[in-house]
Amino acid sequence: MTDCPHPTKSRFATRAAAVNASRRVRIRANLQLAPYECVCTWWHLTKNTVEAPLTADEADRADVEHVASLPDIDFREIVVADLRSQGTRADRAVLRHELNLRRWKRHLGQLIDDVNMQLKDRKHDTSLEAHNWRKRTVSYRNTIDLRLKECRRLRAVVHADAFRKNDYRRRDVEIAAAAGATVKELRHHAGEIAVGRLIDAHGAEFARYCAEEYRALGLTVPDRIARHINEIRADRSSPAV
Ligand SMILES: [Zn+2]
Repeated sequence: MTDCPHPTKSRFATRAAAVNASRRVRIRANLQLAPYECVCTWWHLTKNTVEAPLTADEADRADVEHVASLPDIDFREIVVADLRSQGTRADRAVLRHELNLRRWKRHLGQLIDDVNMQLKDRKHDTSLEAHNWRKRTVSYRNTIDLRLKECRRLRAVVHADAFRKNDYRRRDVEIAAAAGATVKELRHHAGEIAVGRLIDAHGAEFARYCAEEYRALGLTVPDRIARHINEIRADRSSPAV
């Protein structure tokens, strides 16, 4: 774990907890604070503006697939640009798509290894220049570290979703098999029952719409529908029991 660059700041275990705290501060002190993730693995609050979290929803599907098909050298360029917060949100969101998560993680891992190697190589260099370089490099490593955490979190969500979907699918198949049908047949059956219930509950409305559409097309309203409308009218005019 990396040391916290701001050890005196309040820390929160989750983003949600930090958001809650920021709300309390806003009400009490009228101060706008934004939550941000720290390399120390906790969340803190800051007065500075913080970019809203990026999600794959902001990415264009065609871009996602295009980036997925790029060779490593070009893919890495996108990873590095994202580390520097360069590019539009849509460009950067592409990396957050499940199609690119695994590769993004691999590249971040390679970049962090590379930075660690450089830091190790210059460990004994005590010059001022090396000191400044080290400061910049450690800060860069911290950024990579944060992206890695973000990537892991996104992958965990994808895994949980896939697991849940698989679980539902398996259960549906079992239930259908027990009923001697396929899942598709069972769904179709449920749909038919639902339509039946809809007509029972809103038959008058349904008949009226049908009649309107027939008339709009210049067709004669079939007896069946006309009868249905008359029945409903008769029902309404009869005194309540
Ligand atoms: Zn911290």
